[in-house]
Amino acid sequence: MELSTDGLVLGLRRRRGRRYRCECGDSTRARYDLSRRRWRHLDFGSTKVWMEADIARITCPACGIRTETVPWARPGARHTRDFQDVIGWLAQRMDKTSVARLLRCSWEAVDRAVRMLVADHLPTDRLDGLYRIGVDEISYKRGHHYLTIVCDHDTGRVVWVAKDRTRKAFEDFFTALGPDRSEQLAAITMDGSPIYMPVAADNAPQATVCLDPFHVIKWANEALDKARQANPAVPPTPATPAKRSGPATVAQVNAPAKAWRRLKTALRSGAENLTDERRALINALRRHNYQLFRAWTLKEQLRDLYRIPPEQARRYLRRWITRAIRSKIPAMQQLATRLTKYFHQTVAAVELGLSNSRAEGINSKIRVIQRRGYGHPGPDSLTAMIYLCLGGITLNLPTQT
Ligand SMILES: [Zn+2]
Repeated sequence: MELSTDGLVLGLRRRRGRRYRCECGDSTRARYDLSRRRWRHLDFGSTKVWMEADIARITCPACGIRTETVPWARPGARHTRDFQDVIGWLAQRMDKTSVARLLRCSWEAVDRAVRMLVADHLPTDRLDGLYRIGVDEISYKRGHHYLTIVCDHDTGRVVWVAKDRTRKAFEDFFTALGPDRSEQLAAITMDGSPIYMPVAADNAPQATVCLDPFHVIKWANEALDKARQANPAVPPTPATPAKRSGPATVAQVNAPAKAWRRLKTALRSGAENLTDERRALINALRRHNYQLFRAWTLKEQLRDLYRIPPEQARRYLRRWITRAIRSKIPAMQQLATRLTKYFHQTVAAVELGLSNSRAEGINSKIRVIQRRGYGHPGPDSLTAMIYLCLGGITLNLPTQT
């Protein structure tokens, strides 16, 4: 043990006659050469700690010339297992930049540790017993690139991540799944994408394709947004302050913009979550902007599709489509056309009990990962983070026993 300028260095010596282990599990006595290497270990207080040892390059009968593996570090790592486990545990809970700062290591070290941990810990049986799955795309780099994500509705885990949103990306999933496990699939949820639908039909023809409720509600909110832009009359704010004489104050000038923002939030929130103030805003809409009020009502009624008894879904949706077409609100009429096209897939989601699917949860969790990971430079880093946080990986801290 020695205290150097870098911190505390723990020198490790090899027991005489010990065999060298290869990554493949084989071991040998024959070594090629020796070199000294350091691994960063967990800090001792505020002092950095390093492990140092002579490490051999060996001639493995199976692999050829390799660097021997050591029990305290993963192959190729410059940090000990314990150090990397702490990185992973923290990265499941906070952004990488903070992890790097807290542990006094580089961003790249965090990134590398995350990938190694995923390779080590991702459940190998995650494609077993899949019954109801969802496939979706997520965009990154400001919507210029995509990943295809497959999740298990019954565990809420991400089981597959592939680059791009192509037929091939989804086909690769079925190749990994194999014909036997593909046959066990009962339902596949997705958005109305023409990319994934034919792949599902080819590889799991017995599975019912369902329209993801998450996307239906998203479309409804988008239609409502369009209706709001087309009907820009702002209802008077419920509690209008008394008019003052004299030049307009900043607050008065900004009032319309503020009222708009408030209205937008009120329209977005579900009827059951409205505060008194927002409810008053919606009620005012009924008197002053009936078109927009109607659009809001249609959105809420569509949300109810996922709360009614499943056997009523078919009739309920048909009546909703009729109402939307009669509303003369173009955005809602377009949504009605879209839902007519995917009528069976929409109803199937309700009938198969996927109304409050966990896909929505996964979608928003991925957005959180993306938001705090400003600096997933490529798809591989983002993929590793998605698996680390949503792939069912449980990491224990070295201090937990
Ligand atoms: Zn080997």
